[in-house]
Amino acid sequence: MASWKDISGVKQQIAASSAEEVTASYLETIEESRINGFVAIWDKALKAAREIDAGGHKGPLAGVPVAIKDNISTKGLSTTCSSKILQGYVPPYDAHVIEKLKAAGAVILGKTNMDEFAMGTSTESSHYGPTLNPWDTERVPGGSSGGSAAVVAAGEAPVSLGSDTGGSVRCPAAFCGVVGLKPTYGVVSRFGLISYANSLEQIGPMATTVTDIATLMDVIGGYDSRDSTSINRKNTYSDALKDDVKGLKIGVPEEYFGEGIDKNVEKAVWDAIGKYEEMGASWKKVSMPHTRYALASYYIIAMSEASSNLARFDGTRYGLRAEEGENWHTMASKTRAEGFGAEVKRRILLGTYALSAGYHDKYYLKALKVRTLVKQDFDRAFTDVDVLMAPTMPTPAFKIGEKIDDPLSLYLADVNTVPINLAGVPSISVPCGFSGGMPVGLQIMGKPFDENTILRAAYSFEQNTGHHKVRPGEVA
Ligand code: GLN
Repeated sequence: MASWKDISGVKQQIAASSAEEVTASYLETIEESRINGFVAIWDKALKAAREIDAGGHKGPLAGVPVAIKDNISTKGLSTTCSSKILQGYVPPYDAHVIEKLKAAGAVILGKTNMDEFAMGTSTESSHYGPTLNPWDTERVPGGSSGGSAAVVAAGEAPVSLGSDTGGSVRCPAAFCGVVGLKPTYGVVSRFGLISYANSLEQIGPMATTVTDIATLMDVIGGYDSRDSTSINRKNTYSDALKDDVKGLKIGVPEEYFGEGIDKNVEKAVWDAIGKYEEMGASWKKVSMPHTRYALASYYIIAMSEASSNLARFDGTRYGLRAEEGENWHTMASKTRAEGFGAEVKRRILLGTYALSAGYHDKYYLKALKVRTLVKQDFDRAFTDVDVLMAPTMPTPAFKIGEKIDDPLSLYLADVNTVPINLAGVPSISVPCGFSGGMPVGLQIMGKPFDENTILRAAYSFEQNTGHHKVRPGEVA
């Protein structure tokens, strides 16, 4: 049976046995899973591992199993965004990040559960039912990349990929006690990522250590001409793995410790900042006054983009098609009525409303103006400090069913993650303690394209603390 291992642990195992045996042991663990983290298993995983063994692959991920969020296109392997409307859809091509992973020798294990079309914070809106948090199976794993975080936390995959539109990598990383990075917008190609809100989202890695995050970024980062927002800029992320924060200037935005924050979350984050001080960094409070408007602006922009991006799912080309109506219109509307879940429908309706004539200026345009103000808060803060630190989520993982009937309370949980996507800056969540037995995430935000400073800060914290080593079931 496979267990919690980082990439170097997996490589040692491969050297002692074979990629095929390691993949087989992960597949066995997944078979026995009780958390509903995977929605599809790649039937060619063992074959791929065997080919790695036979060819003596020397890539940085040779034989390393990877779990992939169900909105990232995988050739020959079903990709449904955990939606009924895409049931049966098998992409004819690989996303850019999948091409890169395969070239590096990675073995794709399968697709992980998510909120339908990445719209959510709990993985409860999935057509396949919720993923359970391995720390407490009555609780949500966070979302929308809940499956990707939970399978890593449960030892069902050493590393995974998620996507982050407004927190979907960082939230489940925090709730499941793993590390997750949202890269700067443009650093990882979105080619093959099924769009929810394309001006906000990035694919991001999830793992048990910061080192593995850097290794994955070295593989998946980089220019791709097929994504018009891809940036041509070279960076070696693993260069950042140095235990040294002497002189690092930390800003602590007071607006991220607002109403409704859990006391133990607050304490864990301040303890972490205290630790940084001990390690030679300095900190000061900073103000980011437009933070309070970020959530409203985010949801208007995200829903508007979603209403346009999801127009393509009409039964003509992909997945589900309702019984033929008398014409295309009835077929398309029946398909959409049957295929989309309640949350997706809500967002398409609200997004269409926000973009419609007469309301466009009042809602969408105004939200874009607020987005600029939020971005300027970051620009201003970064003239004075190197990184910002705050709780990733204001509370630990909540109970399954607790918020699902109250969409507004779910949206409010994203208060500390969405500003980062509006601004396009990079941000990482690392484990920093516990609240009521559930993991707490420290969020470290950086300047655009300065992933290496937040990786160095996160790595140094990890080297000097033990939070990331505690496994589900081990917390006191
Ligand atoms: N919870 C946020 C939303 O529902 C973010 C989701 C995401 O990052 N994909 O939009």
